[in-house]
Parts: sequence; structure tokens; C-alpha cells
Amino acid sequence: MASVMPRDLRGGRGGLTRISLKCDNAAVTRMVAALDVGGTTIKAALLDEQLQPKAALRAETARGADGTALAAQTADIVAALAEQAGTGQPAAVGVVVPGIVDEQTRVCHFSANLDWREVPFGELLEDRLGLPVAFGHDVTAGGIAEFRVGAGRGATNAAFIPVGTGIAAALLLDGRIHRAHGQAGEVGHIDVGHPGRCGCGATGCLEAISSAAAIARRYTERTGRPADGAREVVELARRGDEVAVTVVQDALDGLGHGIRTLLTLLGPEVIVLGGGLFTAADYVLEPVREWLAAHLTFQKMPELRIAELGDEAGRLGAGLLAFDLLGN
Ligand SMILES: [Zn+2]
Repeated sequence: MASVMPRDLRGGRGGLTRISLKCDNAAVTRMVAALDVGGTTIKAALLDEQLQPKAALRAETARGADGTALAAQTADIVAALAEQAGTGQPAAVGVVVPGIVDEQTRVCHFSANLDWREVPFGELLEDRLGLPVAFGHDVTAGGIAEFRVGAGRGATNAAFIPVGTGIAAALLLDGRIHRAHGQAGEVGHIDVGHPGRCGCGATGCLEAISSAAAIARRYTERTGRPADGAREVVELARRGDEVAVTVVQDALDGLGHGIRTLLTLLGPEVIVLGGGLFTAADYVLEPVREWLAAHLTFQKMPELRIAELGDEAGRLGAGLLAFDLLGN
């Protein structure tokens, strides 16, 4: 099984699930176009059934409140990918965006990054392309990829928590992705008991103390020195900068609190941690584990794993959603 997987997906437990690895007699491999749309950048690829990219490109996200500009841009990207790969149209297209997205109705209810409210993007894009379109949430899709072909392989109850500019989670409950029409997984807004304000308007949110953005902001607030992201603050902490040590410790304590709440409610046996903060896993993972070991009472200690797919997770997840639409 491992030999058919992309090199960067190898090296873990289990293997691909729910993707047909067989070619038919005509040896035709189905392709899908997969797009991970962020507030500023789109990462797109044409993927085969082994999730190998046959073409890839990046583009600046087209803005527009009704989604038509992004639909037009997506059509151009799909055509460009097919041309780059020398293939025909893909069999389906998967697009994932940040925000509150209902995968079933294919409506994005809200996206701060795209400035969208109630955009029926799936239908809009399908009308434009004349191809089947899967439309989902970027973190959920990233979780689907990590659970099936990344660090979460083999788990039936798991959470994927990327800690980047914000914090959200993808949830696998009894082997199924928990979607709740896009309303689930907003762990960044669990109250972890600090006095700081969150962008959502509440105080005490996990995201306001533990996100990569919060770490950089809190370091700058305390020192007056700009920090180029959480990575730099973690480096300063590693070298003994006392303010950096405190800010990073606050962030990791916050994550411990948040994860404890998640464990208490949902009991995941595996937690996959990713995003910008956990690129420094050697420094930040052990304190989270220690916090949990010291503070869990009856809850079972989860296995903490580091995400394997990096910033490819969203795009691979978009591809998996598109293949799911086609069925095996
Ligand atoms: Zn909040």
C-alpha cells in the first residue's frame, strides 16, 4: 500500500481508505481538481486517485462578496491545471475555504477571510463548470486528509487542531467526520480562563492566547519589539528570553485547557496538532503533554501526534471530498 502513496504521505500507520486504488481495464485514472482557498492565496492541484499531483499552481485569491469572481477564477484554474497536465477536464472539483461552511448544502454562511455571507458557492461553481463540485471547510478537509492519509490514520475518535492565525478543529467521532452543518469544531473559542479579549467579542478564548498570531502579538505588547510570528517567539524562548518563555508557556497552558475540555466532551484517543506553532514541535509538544498529565483526572490521556501533511492538508482534503463525491 505504501508504494502507491506520495512520498510525503508515507511513514505511518494504515493506509489510504475509501479511495479506489484500482485502475479499470482501460487504465484510465480519474483526476480531480483540488483548491484550498485562503484569504490571500489559492493552492490548487490536479490530483490522481493516489493523491499524486499531476499539475499544481498558486494564485492570488479573487475577492468579491457574492463569490462570482472566485467561481470565474476557479474555472480558469481548473482549465490551467488540465492544460499543464495535458489531460482533459477533471472528473470533479473540490474547493475548501475558511469560515462556516455547510458541506451538504454547499453554502458558506460566513467567512471573515473572504468577506462572504450566505454564498451558495458550490452551486455557483457547478453551474459555471458543468462538473460535480464538492465544497467544504478548510480545517475539516485538512482533518479528513490527516485522518485518512496522515498522522491520524487508524484512529476512530480523533481531533485535528491546526494552531495558526486562528485555532479550529476537525473532529472524527466513532469513525465519522462530525460536521454539524459547519457549526462544529470552533475550539479556538473555548473559554480557557484569561482576561484577554478575542476577535469574536468574548473574553478568555483559547485563540486569543494560544494562536500563533496571539503569541506574536502578546510578545510585542510586552516588549515593544515586533515579532515575526510565533516561530520567532519560540526561538527567543528557546534561547532563554524570559518574556518569550512566559508568552509561549501561557499559550501552551491554554492549549492544555482547551484540549482537556475537548477530551471531557468527546474523548478523542488521538489528537493531531499542526499549524505554524507545531513546526517547533520539539519545543512545544512536551509542555502540552505535561500539562495534560498534571491536570487530567478521570479523562484518558490521548496520544498526541504531530500533523504530517503540513500546508498540503487542506488541498489534499479538497481532493478527497471530490473523490468522495464520485464514489468508488
Ligand atoms: Zn473567541
